[in-house]
Amino acid sequence: MRENYYPRIGLEIHIQLKTKTKLFCSCKNEYGAIPNTNVCPVCLGYPGVLPVLNQEAVKMALKVAIALNAKINPKSRFYRKNYFYPDLPKGYQITQYSESIAEKGVMRIQVDDEFKEVIIERMNIEEEAARSIHTEQGEVLLDFNRSGIPLLEVVTDPCISSPQEAKLFLEKFRDYLRFLKISDCDMEKGELRVDSNVSVSRNPAELGVKVELKNLNSFRAVYEALNYEIERQVNTLKHEGKIVQETRLWDEFKGESRSMRRKEESMDYRYFPEPDLPVLVLDEKLIEQVKNEISELPDSKFERYIKDYGLSEEQARLIAFDRDLSEIFDQVAEKTKDRKTVANWLTVIIPGYLRENRSLKEISCDDLVRIEQSLTAGYITQNQAKEILSRFFEQHVPISKSLTEFEHLSSSITEEVLEKVVEEVLAEQKELVEKYLSGKTNVLQALLGQCMKKLRGSGDPVKIKEILERKLK
Ligand SMILES: [Zn+2]
Repeated sequence: MRENYYPRIGLEIHIQLKTKTKLFCSCKNEYGAIPNTNVCPVCLGYPGVLPVLNQEAVKMALKVAIALNAKINPKSRFYRKNYFYPDLPKGYQITQYSESIAEKGVMRIQVDDEFKEVIIERMNIEEEAARSIHTEQGEVLLDFNRSGIPLLEVVTDPCISSPQEAKLFLEKFRDYLRFLKISDCDMEKGELRVDSNVSVSRNPAELGVKVELKNLNSFRAVYEALNYEIERQVNTLKHEGKIVQETRLWDEFKGESRSMRRKEESMDYRYFPEPDLPVLVLDEKLIEQVKNEISELPDSKFERYIKDYGLSEEQARLIAFDRDLSEIFDQVAEKTKDRKTVANWLTVIIPGYLRENRSLKEISCDDLVRIEQSLTAGYITQNQAKEILSRFFEQHVPISKSLTEFEHLSSSITEEVLEKVVEEVLAEQKELVEKYLSGKTNVLQALLGQCMKKLRGSGDPVKIKEILERKLK
């Protein structure tokens, strides 16, 4: 169907930065507050007020730029983008336009078994408009709490060649933003918004006519809208039709897009430099400081966990891309030997106990280190380690208490007790014993299991196995 047609996709992403205050005033940046309570003359667009740039927003933008290996511009500038809309009280939006804070970044994604580099063309800091709420009665309500919240606009090169690549890139980019604690990226709350443009061409080196897609409210919508649009363009070209440069709106429920405006209808924003804001100068010192605030990035952690600790790709990814989890894991891994077991506790065992009222942060790194050390030394078994975690999260039993109990239990089990238990099991499990004697030695594991059951998991399995083998001879 699509053979010999090459799609070229570009993405334009808007991220609400999770700063404490708005971009140009000291109003709170807070989701879900009572409408029109976090407002002041600056974000309501009163004449004669002066915007003051929020340094926290600049630092957050820098973090993204550094994480994406982008070229940071030592000098950038703000512009006024003029247009009239009820959600824009000043009549213009302050944005960076042609002099961006950073440009030419890159993010590597894995597509099937290959790596692909997605190029970031530029990053701009800009302000958010107010939120308009359309009621069923046809009224439009305005909430100016959102007016002036900082946004980071990230624009990719049209180098993405399939809807799948677009989705993979967005997922990884979102994980990075969360890792950097810049945004929670909840698309339903509008914290992350995506527009896309796509063209198809018979010549892979050439761009076709670009169509913009809007109203993409989830990554799934991005994927489906792109698929639909590529199909539509290829069909049009196959039937000798012409692609019109336009903006199309995606309808998630109908699974189709419709034309919103043609190129000739596009607005002239009459950009001009914002006279109330100085040129944004970023010195080396600030950039160094921000670099130091970013810990090791997920990609590097991911590779290290596989190479140094032998974790599976899946487990390495789960931990590396989660800031809190990776911080705990790194601290514990430094003081322990069996990192695979620790990774298993963190990604499989403990999440099973986490409910609304229990969080991973309740367990300390020292506790995890102590459990691992006791396990490696052979004082407790794997099952007992899990039991200790279960008791901690389900019954609030302190780790140290369970550890002392199980360690005491195992030290109180004498050789004599073990011999007795083995004899009991051999007397009870005649069938298994016969199988063993007839050469099916793999039933030894089942016999061992029976012994462990009697000892309620507290004996040393290696020792029991020895006794079993000796007695069976
Ligand atoms: Zn304000």
